[in-house]
Amino acid sequence: MIKRLEIKTTARIQLVDITAQVRGVLRNEHLTSGVAVVYVPHTTCGITINENADPAVKEDITAALGRLVPEDGGYRHAEGNADAHIKASLVGSSVSVIVESSSLVLGTWQGIYLAEFDGPRKRSVLMKFIQG
Ligand code: ZN
Repeated sequence: MIKRLEIKTTARIQLVDITAQVRGVLRNEHLTSGVAVVYVPHTTCGITINENADPAVKEDITAALGRLVPEDGGYRHAEGNADAHIKASLVGSSVSVIVESSSLVLGTWQGIYLAEFDGPRKRSVLMKFIQG
């Protein structure tokens, strides 16, 4: 069964730490060993894993993506959010995390982030837990 989280973002570009919410969903799954797939069914946001200790890392990531893919880059997409589509593709739309002893196997400094590139919006995060 697919599980779903609804995440409200509050800025156009924002990394939202959703690790605690993913853990909360996993807790109700009674999955002892396997894989958690965390996925966003959107074209202008992504999912990534990165440092959750120093908040400056989030700012560095979003700033660096902004330099790589500026908002006004002379794109052809008529909707005006081409940079968001490109950033979403760079970041990717899912991560897979190993589950062992009913817990996400994340490094000490790792968190799971929804990467918003065209907010603020309400976003869906889908999760599939695979026994194995
Ligand atoms: Zn678009």
